[in-house]
Order: sequence, then C-alpha cells, then structure tokens
Amino acid sequence: MGRKQQLSRRIFLYQGACLAALGSQAEIVRADLPLGSSAWITTLSDGYLSLPPEMVFGAMPQKELEELLARHQTSLSKYEPNCNVVLYRDGENTVLFDAGAGPDFMATSGKLPETFDAIGLSPDEITHVVLTHAHPDHIWGVLDGFDDPFFPKAVHLFGRKEWDYWWNPATVDSIGADRASFAAGAKRRMEAIEDQVEFFDDGQEILPGIAARAAYGHTPGHMAFEVRKGNDAVMVVGDALGNPHVAFERPGWLNGTDQDPKAAATARKSLLEQILAEQMRLVGFHLPSGGFGRVEKAGSAYRFIGEPS
Ligand SMILES: [Zn+2]
Repeated sequence: MGRKQQLSRRIFLYQGACLAALGSQAEIVRADLPLGSSAWITTLSDGYLSLPPEMVFGAMPQKELEELLARHQTSLSKYEPNCNVVLYRDGENTVLFDAGAGPDFMATSGKLPETFDAIGLSPDEITHVVLTHAHPDHIWGVLDGFDDPFFPKAVHLFGRKEWDYWWNPATVDSIGADRASFAAGAKRRMEAIEDQVEFFDDGQEILPGIAARAAYGHTPGHMAFEVRKGNDAVMVVGDALGNPHVAFERPGWLNGTDQDPKAAATARKSLLEQILAEQMRLVGFHLPSGGFGRVEKAGSAYRFIGEPS
C-alpha cells in the first residue's frame, strides 16, 4: 500500500472511529483534503460558540442584513458559529492551526481533547501550533485544565505583531472593558508557553510550504496562511472571513467581533480577491462544512461554496 493510500485509509478510519464514538456529533471531525501527493489537511471540531447576535451584526444595515441572512436560512435570533481547528500533515510535520478554546471559555467549546481522543491522535504528536491570533477560542486551548501546556512537544509559532500587542501590559487597559478578559487570558497563556514560542513576520515561509499572509483587523496582528504543495493551495483564513454569509456577500460591512472593523473589512476584500484570482480553496475557523470551501463572485458580492467531504 502506497503512502497516500495509507494516509487515506488512516483518515477514513479516523472518521469511522469518530462517528462511532460520538454518535450524532458527526461534525466533530470533518473534511479531509489531500494537498498535492503527500500532504493532508483535516479539520477537527472544537465545538461551537454562542455569541449575542447584536454584538456581531449590530453595526450593519438591519433590513438588508435580515434579507441577506434569510437567503442563507439563518436569522438574528441566535448566533452559534462552529469552531474548526485545522490539522496539516505532510509526513514530517504535524501542524495545528490554532489550539481551540480550552476548558475555561464556553461550555460549548473546548472539545478538541475529546476530538483528539476520538480519532486516536495524541497532543504529543503535534510538532507545531501555528496561531492565527490570540482570541480565546483560538489560543486558550494551549493549556489544559491544570494550566500545563496541552501540546508539550510543539513549537508554538506566533506572528510577532500579534504577540507584541497581547504581551504589552497596557493592552488590558486600552482594549476596552468588553475584551479586558481576552487580554488577561491571552497574556497568561502566552507566559505559560513562552519557552515554546518562535516568531514570524508577514510573508515569511514559516514551515516548508506554509507562508504567513497578513490579514490585520480582526486583531492587530491577525494572520492567514497559504499552504501550498505544487499547484495545490489552501488559504487558512482564521477569523479574517468569520462567517459564510455577510463576510462574503458584504465584506465591507463592519463586524462587531473585529477589533478594528475598517481594517478587517479591507483585509477581507483583499483576501477574497486573492483566493478568487488564484483559484485557491480556503478553510475558515468559523465556516460551515468543516470550514472548507471555495469562493465565487457574483457582481460585487462573493459567495462561499462549502465543500463537504
Ligand atoms: Zn474565532
């Protein structure tokens, strides 16, 4: 059996074990994608968030928003985005993009340890944790329930700009009351993993085939990542494209979850144009279909086309 077949079979077994173990929670492992001939991207569920819709959508034109959401069979009554942690394996490195929320954020999230158990993956196998940004649902999972590093053998790769922002002791006072706990929580976790951290800058190839691509605005140093094997490429967008409807159809609308909404809107448009122009696939932390899809354009609007596995 060739390496690719072995990988394919292994992932099939992962999914089978997962579905059997978790019954109706079939979403917990989703979407395995071969990349080139020897690498795989898989998304693992960390659960989902429950956010006040007005916090996310409050600054948008409400009538048009309701019409837009209705077309996507969704409404403003609740907002529960799922959380997809991306696993990348190329036979040499086993890379996790973001660490999930850990045990202390929301009861509906922090499920990654269960997902690891369900698929027979040990946190010890992770060689690198690459952070898109330091919001709780992405970084709090670097520590377990005993405040020990959950990925003890992993190098944690952090964009320097993002690190500097959250490391700055002034941030907890300047970020605003709503997010002060985000700042304190990020700092505490960053201190705990400091010895495992390496830094990168925009444009840098951080690992073979993985390049950092600035997408500032959701947080000051938010990063996307272009993962490429030959002609095959996927953009890991993190929260730069944070939902499947408004972010694509009206990328210029200001979203309340973005710390600098105008910069985030600019980053969204730029990212969408690049993904479209280069005919890449994308995977988003809060997108449906396990986060995988591609982009189409209709007039001035874009569309997320989910690609279920
Ligand atoms: Zn998020």
